[in-house]
Amino acid sequence: MNIKNNLILALDVTNKDKAIEICKEVSPYINTIKIGYPLTLAEGLEIIKIIKDEFGANIICDYKVADIDATNSKICDLTFDAGADAIICHGFVGSDSVQACLDSANKHEKEIFLLTEMSHPGAKMFLQKDAEAIAKMGVDMGITNYVAPATRLDRLSEIRNIVGDDACIISPGVGKQGGDAKKTLEFASAIIVGRSIYESDNPALACEKIIKD
Ligand code: C5P
Repeated sequence: MNIKNNLILALDVTNKDKAIEICKEVSPYINTIKIGYPLTLAEGLEIIKIIKDEFGANIICDYKVADIDATNSKICDLTFDAGADAIICHGFVGSDSVQACLDSANKHEKEIFLLTEMSHPGAKMFLQKDAEAIAKMGVDMGITNYVAPATRLDRLSEIRNIVGDDACIISPGVGKQGGDAKKTLEFASAIIVGRSIYESDNPALACEKIIKD
């Protein structure tokens, strides 16, 4: 996936008009948009195609897919049929569940991003201790796209060591969660930024600052 300026917008607003307004403002800087549950639950799966068609953006659906294999297949099929270019899947559910996501992506000629570890403080309670094993599983499965946290650079660097230099790592946690864009990009292929852009009075300027810093 070609990610302009190595910057992905997390479009976690809850209405279509606001979503379109933000996308218009940031479109000179951003060609890859992450849509998660807030916008999808508010506006339905149709929002994927609306944003994709209007802005020609790559759409990564952050549905953190984490179910049994049969259910994961259905979730991924529906998401790709709705126009997503990629979907984020949890790794902690194990290889059979992740393989179902990968099979769906391959069938649709789309991609998955494997989530190794989340960026918030609570991730330390359970997920962190298995993050490296999750990344190793991804490598064994031939997965080349990962999500790892900008809030803990030591962890991000460890995940980079495991998945290798050729893998694409996208990294949330820059800005509101405390992560630094430049330092994160020493290890990550692209950063994911939400509130620091869409809550800004000037989202375009916010993008410019992040890119320049
Ligand atoms: O607003 P903020 O920049 O903190 O948004 C970060 C985005 O990345 C949110 O959509 C959040 O759900 C997502 N995310 C995360 N940590 C992960 C995976 C996704 O913060 N490990």
